[in-house]
Amino acid sequence: MRQIRIQRVIAVLALASFVAGCTADPETVESVQIPAEPIVQPVVQEAITPPTESTGENVMSDTAEAKPTKYNELTDIEAYVILKKGTERPFVGEYTDMKDPGTYICRQCNSPLYLATQKFSSHCGWPSFDDEIEGAVERHVDTDGDRTEIVCKNCGGHLGHVFLGEGYTEKNTRHCVNSLSMKFFAEGKPLPQVVHLPKAK
Ligand SMILES: [Zn+2]
Repeated sequence: MRQIRIQRVIAVLALASFVAGCTADPETVESVQIPAEPIVQPVVQEAITPPTESTGENVMSDTAEAKPTKYNELTDIEAYVILKKGTERPFVGEYTDMKDPGTYICRQCNSPLYLATQKFSSHCGWPSFDDEIEGAVERHVDTDGDRTEIVCKNCGGHLGHVFLGEGYTEKNTRHCVNSLSMKFFAEGKPLPQVVHLPKAK
């Protein structure tokens, strides 16, 4: 009798453990799968958000490219002439003897200043023009009252000086301009966009 009871107990225990084992496995699998789904969903939502933001940034940068927001970078010698009102040494300037047809623009802001047709040979050592593109150049009498400084009207960059009554041409005017203050664009070559910013003082 004892042996039969023991066998029954063992059989019940074995059955119970088998049932427990069968029911435990699916529970374990389900318990792994359930948390897996909610984790995946937030990740997908987060991944959707950044492209929306970056699309907004692209629109901003496109606008910035269309409208230049800063002046052209200047070398030390260009900054000395344009910003500190320095003077380039005579007869060494890049455009002193240039006679090609085209346009001279401001090196700092790209504003068109002079046409090649306004240039003449003065043999003074610097590029000379007897007129400017209308409204492009501003005149200021130097503090000593002797000379009249000329600056780019758009950015205030120093160009040189203007002298009157010398009789070089019919216009009786000589804009004596540093080559370093300008950049030459040959005829037919598209001019760069002018940079419009508040004038530096
Ligand atoms: Zn300028």
